Amino acid sequence: MAQPGSFAALGECTMCARKQDTAFPDYCAHCGGSVVLPPTGPALPDTTDLPGMWRYTGRLPVTPDTAWLSMGEGDSPVVPAAGTADWCGVERLQFKLDHLNPSGSFKDRATAVGMAQAVRQRASAVVCASSGNAAGSTAAYAARAGLPAVVLMPEAVPPGKAAVARAHGAAVLRVRGDYSNTFRAARELAGRFGWINLTTTFVNPVAVAGLKSAGYELAGQLADPPGWIVVPVGAGPLVHGIATAYRELHGSGEVAAVPRILGVQAEGCAPVAEAFARGADEVAPWQHVRTRISAISDPLRGYPSDGTYTLRLVRETGGAMAAVADAEADEAANQLAYREGLLIESGAAAGLAAVRAERERGTIRGDESVVCMLTGHGIKTLSTDVDPGPVITGTDEAVRRLRARTELAEGMAG
Ligand SMILES: [Zn+2]
Repeated sequence: MAQPGSFAALGECTMCARKQDTAFPDYCAHCGGSVVLPPTGPALPDTTDLPGMWRYTGRLPVTPDTAWLSMGEGDSPVVPAAGTADWCGVERLQFKLDHLNPSGSFKDRATAVGMAQAVRQRASAVVCASSGNAAGSTAAYAARAGLPAVVLMPEAVPPGKAAVARAHGAAVLRVRGDYSNTFRAARELAGRFGWINLTTTFVNPVAVAGLKSAGYELAGQLADPPGWIVVPVGAGPLVHGIATAYRELHGSGEVAAVPRILGVQAEGCAPVAEAFARGADEVAPWQHVRTRISAISDPLRGYPSDGTYTLRLVRETGGAMAAVADAEADEAANQLAYREGLLIESGAAAGLAAVRAERERGTIRGDESVVCMLTGHGIKTLSTDVDPGPVITGTDEAVRRLRARTELAEGMAG
């Protein structure tokens, strides 16, 4: 049996269940299905004294000798909602601030583990396809590992996200068309040159296993399993990470239940939510992408088994899939910025929009506890093409302008 901490760890196809060599990660050699590492357990190795997610070294496919790669990923705080619980109609709402990971997104959990794999296998380079967050993450960890990084992005990528990858010295190329074209190009280059593919679909089961750390942490941070964990979904590896971690902990008797997962997509690219809504068992690739929310825009063309597996996991938790409009996600991002102090990209704020919509539909009850995964920082998608504010020449002018703002006027009487 494969050791969970070893790079000889065998993956298992989610479709045909055949064992797979994960040394050069890819989809199932037999049926093309998505491959994942089998769960750890039933007895879970003790946590270690290493920092952040490396505390779970025995349960993740990493070994302590690569912990020097860490930049403090994992250990993101859970905070109660301050001003948006009413807006959603949910009494007990909390956020896990995963946008506080080193490169500003949850992707660092997978990238750190995948980069450790690349270092151990002495790969000559790493490659990833990314709509943005994995690009910055891969570029940052490659810089730390001393490995060249090739980052492929869809042509319509937000410029701020490309800038982050370039700032770390990665070779950044944009690929004509949507994310699935980019995905295919990365897979072809990885196969041709033996580069480790850090694309955060399910293409690299070793890297994806790093996302279990989010679930282990949540279980340790919350007194009881929440009613719902809300997860933005492209292909769905974070659903796998959180659900697998809770299943392992449930299997070993450490938590009382596996929470329901609410997976969230953008209406303009919602292959998994569409299959859930029509009661299908298999996810079909999405044909025409019509959303600005790039972080969760994955048509799954060429690898629909990722979506099929994610759909199955969501159903097995008793959960649901939701799709939100771009405007709803933007409004949720505004709510988080104005009422919580949290600068979150719309692709991650989509989760909060879905809580509000599913509360109205009755999927979520008002007395259930809900945790939203805030997966990506808003700073990378913040427009710099804004009016930086009026220039004043003295205090009198400042007073006149500030009194015009209703929230200040009362405190400025006299
Ligand atoms: Zn297979």
